[in-house]
Amino acid sequence: MSEAADVERVRAHMLTCLQAAVPLWLAELNSTPEFARVGVAESWAEHAGEQIAAQGDILMYGGGKKGETAAVFNALARGLAAMSTKPGGVLFLDLVWCATHSPGGAPAEQQVCKSCLEAEAA
Ligand SMILES: [Zn+2]
Repeated sequence: MSEAADVERVRAHMLTCLQAAVPLWLAELNSTPEFARVGVAESWAEHAGEQIAAQGDILMYGGGKKGETAAVFNALARGLAAMSTKPGGVLFLDLVWCATHSPGGAPAEQQVCKSCLEAEAA
């Protein structure tokens, strides 16, 4: 199998898993006491950035230790959940992830959540 086919296969699997995982992490975030929610979201987003920068290759090629890939994947999913709570959501893998309008991701028509923009304009 070619490298491009490998990349596409991993991307498709990751997308499917993220579409399930991000809403679950959003539910976890929403169950956090309101006074702590922003801090938890910020720590998730920061941790995701660190993990992807340091170990993002594990998502593509697998880890050497049991659970290593899952740990990096969950850091990514938590980070996406956290960033999706920001106005306009976040664009990742050609989907816009918005906690309010598309918690499981929606095809991106633009860089930010179209429903957020419409709500802001109204
Ligand atoms: Zn939105």
